[in-house]
Amino acid sequence: MHKVTGLDHIGLAVRDSGKAREAFETLFGLKCTGEEVVESQKVKVVFLELGNTRLELIEPLGEGAVSKFLDKRGEGIHHICLKVDGIEEMLAEMKSKGAGLTSDVPVKGAHGRKVAFILPASANGMLTELAE
Ligand code: ZN
Repeated sequence: MHKVTGLDHIGLAVRDSGKAREAFETLFGLKCTGEEVVESQKVKVVFLELGNTRLELIEPLGEGAVSKFLDKRGEGIHHICLKVDGIEEMLAEMKSKGAGLTSDVPVKGAHGRKVAFILPASANGMLTELAE
């Protein structure tokens, strides 16, 4: 049975992940648990541990959705990511209900996990990532 099982992380769009990381470490005492380049999305991501969830700092590595977001909205919350079981089935069901997805099948996200994005227009204004 496919379902949402919790909050996986909150994604923040940042211009400089090193500077942002330092700011969050200094201000909140958060610990960095790693960083990674996600080729499929042309971004660098830095993870900060936050209890049972994480902050994901996303720095664009060129032109793309995140650099456009920064130009338009500035730095701040970019998306939330829900942890799910059965991501393929969930995407198929959402698609059948007419939801806008960035792709019909999951792509490889950070940590090699299967991820997909639901467009804000289909989720009450909230860009939503699913991860399994
Ligand atoms: Zn994310």
